[in-house]
Amino acid sequence: MTGPIELADPLLTANQIQSRVRSLADDINGTFANSGRRLSVIVVLKGACFFAIDLLRHLTLDVQVDFLRASSYLGAGSTGEVRLLYDITMAIAGTDVLLVEDIVDTGLTATWLRRHLAGRSPASVHLVTLLDKPSGRRVDVNIDWSGFTIPDEFVVGYGLDYDEAFRNLPGVYVAREVQE
Ligand code: 5GP
Repeated sequence: MTGPIELADPLLTANQIQSRVRSLADDINGTFANSGRRLSVIVVLKGACFFAIDLLRHLTLDVQVDFLRASSYLGAGSTGEVRLLYDITMAIAGTDVLLVEDIVDTGLTATWLRRHLAGRSPASVHLVTLLDKPSGRRVDVNIDWSGFTIPDEFVVGYGLDYDEAFRNLPGVYVAREVQE
């Protein structure tokens, strides 16, 4: 999409998102409650920011938080390429890592980031994504928790942008090009 776009009714309302975030947090709390280790919450900028902050408010664990930023390119090869724009600065060795993504589409970014973080010797790496778009998948990726499975549409809101706009919407919307 390159031109003006329009948004229809929300695909996911703010209430639906907030109640799902709460139940994801309950599951995550249950998984790590007795680990005896700190949980390193690694947030993928910029899209996962809103989701991660809401999720973090409901985590009752010993957590530390850091951010990274990556961009993925679909090149000629089936694996594509991921470029790390900023990396975490926090030590994660020996901790459980929770990678927080906004959306898993091709799976390239999440797969690459899982491997990247595993290289820092954490005790474990888990992945939570707000949205899963399985129709776009190019590589198999192990998703531990997913908020919602969505159809093959370009979505915005709740952190997700179109040309940097719409991140601040409290719901998620399908964006379609305006037909002239
Ligand atoms: P991947 O294709 O590597 O699984 O996802 C890479 C990134 O593409 C996501 O983190 C997200 O920033 C972007 N992306 C994928 N699908 C959508 C979408 O429907 N809307 C928006 N705004 N971004 C998307």
